[in-house]
Amino acid sequence: MAEKLIVGVDLGGTQIRAALADDEGSILRRTSCLTLAEEGVKPVVGRIKGAIYEVMGATEREQLQGIGIVAPGPVALRKGIVRDAPNLPGWKNVPLKTLMEAEFGLPVVVGNDANLAALAEQRFGAGQGVSDLIYITVSTGIGGGIIADNRLLLGAQGFAAEVGHQTIEAHGPRCKCGNIGCLEALAAGPAIARCARELVRTGIGTAIADLVGGDLDKITAKVVNRAAQAGDPVAIELFRQAGFYIGVGIVNLLHLFNPSLIVIGGSVTKAGDLLFEPIRATVRERAMASYYWENTPIVPATLGDDVGLLGAVALVLLRNTTANFE
Ligand SMILES: [Zn+2]
Repeated sequence: MAEKLIVGVDLGGTQIRAALADDEGSILRRTSCLTLAEEGVKPVVGRIKGAIYEVMGATEREQLQGIGIVAPGPVALRKGIVRDAPNLPGWKNVPLKTLMEAEFGLPVVVGNDANLAALAEQRFGAGQGVSDLIYITVSTGIGGGIIADNRLLLGAQGFAAEVGHQTIEAHGPRCKCGNIGCLEALAAGPAIARCARELVRTGIGTAIADLVGGDLDKITAKVVNRAAQAGDPVAIELFRQAGFYIGVGIVNLLHLFNPSLIVIGGSVTKAGDLLFEPIRATVRERAMASYYWENTPIVPATLGDDVGLLGAVALVLLRNTTANFE
């Protein structure tokens, strides 16, 4: 049995997941429960504690290196404060690190889910051995994490790497964040669904309408993907368009950070090459020189649904080794 054990927690809008893992990212025990965020902060904090106790079980205290927690939205990583979790009502300036350290008497680290997914993919997934990588998640929203020279880029206050809220179309659609024409507003799952509904309304022939029995409210990116995988040209075009916008965003990132790997995860990547090929084509077309992309593969993430848990684990391990927390 491994000597070093870590507890990872993935606090999501729908589910709280927790796992006991070793320092190689193997999950030894796991649990999950509903977040029930509408009940407020205190009950959710209680459920997080319960999930941690459950996976810790009778594990020797000396074996436990610490507890890592990933949370949605901006997190002040050094202080372990959840600033504002959009899907968790009432979660403003919640000092999760302090609360959990008081309960467990172990070091606790807290970070943003997409930021830490970058760490997870670097340590355990598609980016092993890579010192400069950017992770992008495309699902209900678009988030990301930037690792530059083996350091997770946090920014002055810890809110860096909001890759989904870079402006792509200066006069484009309004984003949930208040800005206009963000990548998220153009290429995340809800944007793909919105464009699909608009196209279906024009009366264009597409399998998307059949898949929802004509009920436009039921159109999601998942439905569009089902149509696309079956060869529906309209659905394929919707992923091409999303891939184009993501590609434009990646060109910005290549120019700014010159990474050697781009890893893309999240539910929308289930479209596979229908999304990745237009991303790669756009990058080749638009980057200002080939040296920005020819040695920088754009690849799917490999950790799937465990990326959050493993990001939390990776942050605990990082805490022991780098200056990110000094
Ligand atoms: Zn935005």
